[in-house]
Amino acid sequence: MLVTGGAGYIGSHAVHALRDAGRNVAVIDNLSTGFRFAVPDDVPFYEGDIADSALLARIFAEQGMGDGSGAIMHFAGSIIVPESVAKPLYYYENNTGKSRGLIEAAVAHGVPHILFSSTAATYGVPDVSPVTEQTPTQPINPYGWSKLMTEQMLADTAAAYPLNFCALRYFNVAGADPQVRTGQSTAGATHLIKVAVEAALGKRDAVSIFGTNYDTPDGTGVRDYIHVGDLAAAHVLALDALIAEPSRSLTMNCGYGRGFSVLEVLDAVDRVTGGRIKRVFAGRRAGDPAKLVADSALLRATVPWTPRFDDLETIIEHALAWEEKLPTLRRSAA
Ligand code: UDP
Repeated sequence: MLVTGGAGYIGSHAVHALRDAGRNVAVIDNLSTGFRFAVPDDVPFYEGDIADSALLARIFAEQGMGDGSGAIMHFAGSIIVPESVAKPLYYYENNTGKSRGLIEAAVAHGVPHILFSSTAATYGVPDVSPVTEQTPTQPINPYGWSKLMTEQMLADTAAAYPLNFCALRYFNVAGADPQVRTGQSTAGATHLIKVAVEAALGKRDAVSIFGTNYDTPDGTGVRDYIHVGDLAAAHVLALDALIAEPSRSLTMNCGYGRGFSVLEVLDAVDRVTGGRIKRVFAGRRAGDPAKLVADSALLRATVPWTPRFDDLETIIEHALAWEEKLPTLRRSAA
Protein backbone atom coordinates (compact mmCIF):
# COMPACT_ATOMS: atom_id res chain seq x y z
CA MET A 1 0.00 0.00 0.00
CA LEU A 2 1.41 3.36 -1.05
CA VAL A 3 0.29 6.62 0.55
CA THR A 4 1.07 9.73 -1.50
CA GLY A 5 1.37 12.86 0.61
CA GLY A 6 1.80 10.67 3.69
CA ALA A 7 3.84 13.36 5.45
CA GLY A 8 0.95 15.81 5.28
CA TYR A 9 -1.88 16.46 7.70
CA ILE A 10 -4.52 13.95 6.62
CA GLY A 11 -2.08 11.58 4.90
CA SER A 12 0.00 11.09 8.04
CA HIS A 13 -3.13 10.23 10.04
CA ALA A 14 -4.01 7.67 7.36
CA VAL A 15 -0.51 6.19 7.66
CA HIS A 16 -0.99 5.76 11.41
CA ALA A 17 -4.47 4.29 10.94
CA LEU A 18 -3.18 1.78 8.40
CA ARG A 19 -0.29 0.80 10.63
CA ASP A 20 -2.56 0.51 13.66
CA ALA A 21 -4.73 -1.83 11.55
CA GLY A 22 -1.66 -3.97 10.81
CA ARG A 23 -1.37 -3.02 7.13
CA ASN A 24 1.85 -2.66 5.16
CA VAL A 25 2.33 0.94 4.20
CA ALA A 26 4.94 3.03 2.39
CA VAL A 27 4.96 6.78 1.82
CA ILE A 28 5.93 9.04 -1.06
CA ASP A 29 6.08 12.75 -0.27
CA ASN A 30 8.13 15.58 -1.76
CA LEU A 31 8.06 17.41 1.58
CA SER A 32 6.89 20.62 -0.11
CA THR A 33 4.29 21.04 2.62
CA GLY A 34 4.67 17.80 4.57
CA PHE A 35 7.02 17.00 7.44
CA ARG A 36 9.37 14.05 7.75
CA PHE A 37 8.57 13.85 11.48
CA ALA A 38 4.93 13.09 10.64
CA VAL A 39 5.86 9.66 9.26
CA PRO A 40 6.87 6.90 11.69
CA ASP A 41 10.51 5.86 11.35
CA ASP A 42 9.68 2.26 10.52
CA VAL A 43 7.52 3.19 7.51
CA PRO A 44 9.43 3.07 4.18
CA PHE A 45 9.70 6.69 3.10
CA TYR A 46 10.42 7.81 -0.46
CA GLU A 47 11.21 11.49 -0.72
CA GLY A 48 10.17 12.46 -4.22
CA ASP A 49 7.42 13.61 -6.48
CA ILE A 50 4.48 11.59 -7.74
CA ALA A 51 5.30 13.00 -11.20
CA ASP A 52 8.46 10.85 -11.17
CA SER A 53 7.21 7.75 -12.99
CA ALA A 54 10.55 5.93 -12.63
CA LEU A 55 10.38 6.41 -8.87
CA LEU A 56 6.78 5.11 -8.82
CA ALA A 57 7.90 2.01 -10.77
CA ARG A 58 10.68 1.39 -8.26
CA ILE A 59 8.34 1.83 -5.29
CA PHE A 60 5.74 -0.56 -6.75
CA ALA A 61 8.50 -3.15 -7.31
CA GLU A 62 10.03 -2.74 -3.86
CA GLN A 63 6.66 -2.78 -2.13
CA GLY A 64 5.36 -5.83 -4.00
CA MET A 65 2.60 -3.81 -5.68
CA GLY A 66 1.26 -4.27 -9.20
CA ASP A 67 0.14 -7.18 -11.38
CA GLY A 68 -3.27 -6.99 -9.73
CA SER A 69 -2.32 -6.32 -6.14
CA GLY A 70 -1.75 -3.36 -3.86
CA ALA A 71 -3.45 -0.03 -3.55
CA ILE A 72 -2.73 3.69 -3.53
CA MET A 73 -4.13 6.25 -1.13
CA HIS A 74 -3.63 9.55 -2.90
CA PHE A 75 -3.37 12.63 -0.68
CA ALA A 76 -0.51 14.54 -2.35
CA GLY A 77 -1.60 17.90 -3.66
CA SER A 78 -2.15 21.57 -2.96
CA ILE A 79 -5.10 22.69 -0.86
CA ILE A 80 -5.16 26.47 -0.54
CA VAL A 81 -8.22 27.96 -2.23
CA PRO A 82 -6.99 31.58 -2.68
CA GLU A 83 -3.67 30.28 -3.99
CA SER A 84 -5.59 28.21 -6.55
CA VAL A 85 -7.37 31.36 -7.72
CA ALA A 86 -4.05 33.20 -8.12
CA LYS A 87 -2.20 30.24 -9.67
CA PRO A 88 -4.80 28.09 -11.47
CA LEU A 89 -2.38 26.45 -13.86
CA TYR A 90 -0.18 25.39 -10.96
CA TYR A 91 -3.20 23.69 -9.35
CA TYR A 92 -4.19 22.00 -12.59
CA GLU A 93 -0.62 20.72 -12.87
CA ASN A 94 0.09 19.84 -9.24
CA ASN A 95 -3.33 18.34 -8.48
CA THR A 96 -4.85 17.29 -11.79
CA GLY A 97 -1.84 16.73 -14.04
CA LYS A 98 0.19 14.83 -11.48
CA SER A 99 -2.83 12.75 -10.51
CA ARG A 100 -3.18 11.81 -14.17
CA GLY A 101 0.41 10.54 -14.13
CA LEU A 102 -0.19 8.60 -10.92
CA ILE A 103 -3.32 6.97 -12.34
CA GLU A 104 -1.43 6.13 -15.52
CA ALA A 105 1.32 4.47 -13.47
CA ALA A 106 -1.30 2.46 -11.54
CA VAL A 107 -2.79 1.23 -14.83
CA ALA A 108 0.61 0.52 -16.39
CA HIS A 109 1.77 -1.57 -13.43
CA GLY A 110 -1.56 -3.15 -12.56
CA VAL A 111 -2.24 -1.53 -9.18
CA PRO A 112 -5.98 -2.19 -8.91
CA HIS A 113 -7.29 0.22 -6.23
CA ILE A 114 -7.01 3.99 -5.75
CA LEU A 115 -8.46 5.89 -2.83
CA PHE A 116 -8.59 9.61 -3.58
CA SER A 117 -8.62 12.55 -1.23
CA SER A 118 -11.39 14.77 -2.58
CA THR A 119 -13.31 17.66 -1.11
CA ALA A 120 -16.66 19.27 -0.48
CA ALA A 121 -15.25 22.14 -2.58
CA THR A 122 -16.43 20.06 -5.55
CA TYR A 123 -19.98 21.18 -4.61
CA GLY A 124 -19.14 24.88 -4.68
CA VAL A 125 -21.84 26.87 -2.88
CA PRO A 126 -24.66 24.32 -2.65
CA ASP A 127 -28.16 25.63 -2.03
CA VAL A 128 -29.23 22.53 -0.11
CA SER A 129 -28.29 21.21 3.31
CA PRO A 130 -27.27 18.56 4.05
CA VAL A 131 -25.31 17.92 0.88
CA THR A 132 -25.63 14.46 -0.66
CA GLU A 133 -23.42 12.91 -3.31
CA GLN A 134 -26.25 13.66 -5.78
CA THR A 135 -26.06 17.39 -5.10
CA PRO A 136 -24.72 18.97 -8.32
CA THR A 137 -20.96 19.50 -8.39
CA GLN A 138 -20.31 23.15 -9.26
CA PRO A 139 -16.87 24.18 -8.01
CA ILE A 140 -16.31 27.90 -7.67
CA ASN A 141 -12.50 27.87 -7.67
CA PRO A 142 -9.62 26.06 -9.41
CA TYR A 143 -8.93 24.00 -6.28
CA GLY A 144 -12.42 22.46 -6.40
CA TRP A 145 -12.15 21.94 -10.15
CA SER A 146 -8.70 20.36 -9.88
CA LYS A 147 -10.13 17.75 -7.50
CA LEU A 148 -13.35 17.21 -9.48
CA MET A 149 -11.34 16.72 -12.69
CA THR A 150 -9.31 14.06 -10.92
CA GLU A 151 -12.51 12.32 -9.83
CA GLN A 152 -13.59 12.35 -13.49
CA MET A 153 -10.27 10.85 -14.63
CA LEU A 154 -10.65 8.11 -12.06
CA ALA A 155 -14.21 7.34 -13.18
CA ASP A 156 -13.20 7.17 -16.84
CA THR A 157 -10.15 5.05 -16.04
CA ALA A 158 -12.17 2.66 -13.87
CA ALA A 159 -14.56 2.18 -16.81
CA ALA A 160 -11.72 1.34 -19.17
CA TYR A 161 -9.27 -0.70 -17.06
CA PRO A 162 -9.34 -3.26 -14.23
CA LEU A 163 -9.18 -0.62 -11.50
CA ASN A 164 -11.68 0.69 -8.98
CA PHE A 165 -11.54 3.87 -6.96
CA CYS A 166 -13.07 5.62 -4.02
CA ALA A 167 -13.26 9.42 -3.88
CA LEU A 168 -13.85 10.68 -0.37
CA ARG A 169 -15.21 14.22 -0.27
CA TYR A 170 -14.06 15.76 2.98
CA PHE A 171 -15.99 18.43 4.79
CA ASN A 172 -14.10 20.41 7.49
CA VAL A 173 -11.29 18.26 8.80
CA ALA A 174 -9.93 19.20 12.22
CA GLY A 175 -8.29 17.84 15.34
CA ALA A 176 -5.24 15.62 15.64
CA ASP A 177 -4.19 12.10 16.49
CA PRO A 178 -5.49 11.30 20.01
CA GLN A 179 -2.06 9.84 20.82
CA VAL A 180 -0.48 13.11 19.64
CA ARG A 181 1.71 11.30 17.10
CA THR A 182 0.78 13.70 14.29
CA GLY A 183 -1.41 16.71 13.62
CA GLN A 184 -1.75 19.81 11.51
CA SER A 185 1.74 21.27 11.27
CA THR A 186 1.85 23.64 8.31
CA ALA A 187 2.54 27.24 9.25
CA GLY A 188 0.18 30.03 8.21
CA ALA A 189 -2.97 28.03 8.81
CA THR A 190 -6.30 29.50 7.78
CA HIS A 191 -8.71 26.84 9.03
CA LEU A 192 -10.94 27.92 11.86
CA ILE A 193 -10.16 25.35 14.57
CA LYS A 194 -6.41 25.54 13.94
CA VAL A 195 -6.54 29.34 13.99
CA ALA A 196 -8.65 29.33 17.16
CA VAL A 197 -6.33 27.01 19.10
CA GLU A 198 -3.34 29.12 17.98
CA ALA A 199 -5.15 32.15 19.41
CA ALA A 200 -5.98 30.27 22.62
CA LEU A 201 -2.28 29.48 23.06
CA GLY A 202 -1.26 33.10 22.46
CA LYS A 203 0.23 32.42 19.02
CA ARG A 204 -2.23 34.97 17.57
CA ASP A 205 -3.90 37.99 19.08
CA ALA A 206 -7.44 37.30 17.93
CA VAL A 207 -9.69 35.38 15.59
CA SER A 208 -11.47 37.22 12.81
CA ILE A 209 -15.06 36.12 12.28
CA PHE A 210 -15.68 36.19 8.55
CA GLY A 211 -19.27 37.28 8.21
CA THR A 212 -21.90 37.81 10.88
CA ASN A 213 -25.01 38.26 8.74
CA TYR A 214 -25.40 34.87 7.11
CA ASP A 215 -28.79 33.19 7.06
CA THR A 216 -27.83 30.91 9.98
CA PRO A 217 -29.09 30.86 13.58
CA ASP A 218 -26.38 33.20 14.92
CA GLY A 219 -25.39 34.81 11.60
CA THR A 220 -21.97 33.13 11.34
CA GLY A 221 -20.96 30.34 8.96
CA VAL A 222 -21.90 26.76 9.80
CA ARG A 223 -19.61 23.82 8.98
CA ASP A 224 -19.47 20.07 9.54
CA TYR A 225 -16.22 19.58 11.47
CA ILE A 226 -14.94 16.00 11.29
CA HIS A 227 -12.14 14.65 13.47
CA VAL A 228 -9.15 13.65 11.36
CA GLY A 229 -8.90 10.34 13.25
CA ASP A 230 -12.43 9.36 12.23
CA LEU A 231 -11.64 10.45 8.69
CA ALA A 232 -8.49 8.29 8.64
CA ALA A 233 -10.53 5.33 9.93
CA ALA A 234 -13.01 5.86 7.09
CA HIS A 235 -10.12 5.56 4.63
CA VAL A 236 -9.07 2.17 5.97
CA LEU A 237 -12.67 0.93 5.78
CA ALA A 238 -13.18 2.34 2.29
CA LEU A 239 -10.04 0.58 1.15
CA ASP A 240 -11.42 -2.70 2.45
CA ALA A 241 -14.62 -2.02 0.50
CA LEU A 242 -12.62 -1.46 -2.70
CA ILE A 243 -10.75 -4.72 -2.24
CA ALA A 244 -13.91 -6.67 -1.34
CA GLU A 245 -15.79 -5.50 -4.45
CA PRO A 246 -13.27 -4.77 -7.20
CA SER A 247 -16.00 -3.96 -9.75
CA ARG A 248 -17.48 -1.20 -7.59
CA SER A 249 -16.21 2.36 -7.34
CA LEU A 250 -17.46 4.81 -4.73
CA THR A 251 -17.81 8.54 -4.20
CA MET A 252 -18.73 9.38 -0.62
CA ASN A 253 -19.07 12.40 1.62
CA CYS A 254 -17.05 12.42 4.82
CA GLY A 255 -18.64 14.43 7.59
CA TYR A 256 -20.78 13.75 10.63
CA GLY A 257 -23.98 15.31 9.30
CA ARG A 258 -24.24 18.15 11.80
CA GLY A 259 -22.92 21.68 11.82
CA PHE A 260 -21.44 24.24 14.21
CA SER A 261 -21.24 27.98 13.69
CA VAL A 262 -18.04 30.00 14.00
CA LEU A 263 -19.28 31.41 17.31
CA GLU A 264 -20.10 27.93 18.61
CA VAL A 265 -16.57 26.78 17.74
CA LEU A 266 -14.96 29.74 19.51
CA ASP A 267 -17.19 29.27 22.57
CA ALA A 268 -16.21 25.58 22.67
CA VAL A 269 -12.50 26.48 22.56
CA ASP A 270 -13.07 28.84 25.49
CA ARG A 271 -14.85 26.11 27.44
CA VAL A 272 -11.98 23.68 26.84
CA THR A 273 -9.24 26.13 27.83
CA GLY A 274 -11.11 28.16 30.43
CA GLY A 275 -9.86 31.28 28.61
CA ARG A 276 -11.44 33.83 26.33
CA ILE A 277 -10.29 34.20 22.72
CA LYS A 278 -10.54 37.72 21.40
CA ARG A 279 -13.11 37.90 18.59
CA VAL A 280 -12.91 40.45 15.80
CA PHE A 281 -15.93 40.87 13.56
CA ALA A 282 -14.83 40.97 9.94
CA GLY A 283 -16.48 40.94 6.55
CA ARG A 284 -17.40 37.84 4.62
CA ARG A 285 -14.64 35.89 2.91
CA ALA A 286 -15.21 35.52 -0.84
CA GLY A 287 -16.75 32.20 -1.85
CA ASP A 288 -17.78 31.07 1.65
CA PRO A 289 -21.17 29.33 1.73
CA ALA A 290 -23.40 30.10 4.73
CA LYS A 291 -23.73 26.44 5.62
CA LEU A 292 -21.95 23.28 4.53
CA VAL A 293 -23.07 20.07 6.18
CA ALA A 294 -22.58 16.55 4.84
CA ASP A 295 -25.22 13.93 4.39
CA SER A 296 -23.01 10.99 5.39
CA ALA A 297 -25.65 8.27 4.98
CA LEU A 298 -23.84 6.66 2.05
CA LEU A 299 -20.56 6.30 3.95
CA ARG A 300 -22.34 4.91 7.00
CA ALA A 301 -24.33 2.44 4.88
CA THR A 302 -21.37 1.32 2.77
CA VAL A 303 -18.71 0.74 5.42
CA PRO A 304 -19.12 -0.05 9.10
CA TRP A 305 -17.95 3.42 10.11
CA THR A 306 -18.60 4.25 13.73
CA PRO A 307 -17.16 7.66 14.54
CA ARG A 308 -15.22 7.76 17.80
CA PHE A 309 -14.65 11.50 18.12
CA ASP A 310 -17.92 13.12 17.05
CA ASP A 311 -17.69 15.75 19.75
CA LEU A 312 -16.57 19.34 19.13
CA GLU A 313 -14.74 19.68 22.45
CA THR A 314 -12.83 16.43 21.86
CA ILE A 315 -11.77 17.68 18.42
CA ILE A 316 -10.57 20.92 20.00
CA GLU A 317 -8.77 19.15 22.88
CA HIS A 318 -6.82 17.03 20.41
CA ALA A 319 -6.03 20.04 18.21
CA LEU A 320 -4.77 21.88 21.30
CA ALA A 321 -2.60 18.96 22.43
CA TRP A 322 -0.93 18.88 19.03
CA GLU A 323 -0.51 22.65 18.92
CA GLU A 324 1.28 22.50 22.27
CA LYS A 325 3.66 19.80 21.05
CA LEU A 326 4.40 21.39 17.69
CA PRO A 327 7.08 23.96 18.68
CA THR A 328 9.29 21.20 20.14
CA LEU A 329 9.01 19.17 16.94
CA ARG A 330 9.71 22.18 14.75
CA ARG A 331 12.84 22.97 16.79
CA SER A 332 14.20 19.44 16.62
CA ALA A 333 13.42 19.20 12.88
CA ALA A 334 15.26 22.46 12.14
N1 UDP B 1 -13.66 31.34 9.56
C1 UDP B 1 -13.61 32.49 10.34
N2 UDP B 1 -12.39 32.96 10.75
C2 UDP B 1 -11.21 32.33 10.44
C3 UDP B 1 -11.27 31.15 9.65
C4 UDP B 1 -12.51 30.68 9.23
O1 UDP B 1 -14.64 33.09 10.63
O2 UDP B 1 -10.15 32.80 10.82
C5 UDP B 1 -14.96 30.80 9.17
C6 UDP B 1 -15.20 30.68 7.66
O3 UDP B 1 -15.75 31.86 7.15
C7 UDP B 1 -16.16 29.49 7.60
C8 UDP B 1 -15.71 28.60 8.77
O4 UDP B 1 -15.02 29.48 9.67
O5 UDP B 1 -17.50 29.92 7.87
C9 UDP B 1 -14.77 27.49 8.36
O6 UDP B 1 -13.72 28.02 7.56
P1 UDP B 1 -12.40 27.21 7.28
O7 UDP B 1 -11.43 28.14 6.61
O8 UDP B 1 -11.95 26.52 8.51
O9 UDP B 1 -12.84 26.07 6.28
P2 UDP B 1 -13.67 26.13 4.90
O10 UDP B 1 -15.10 25.83 5.28
O11 UDP B 1 -13.48 27.49 4.30
O12 UDP B 1 -13.07 25.05 4.08
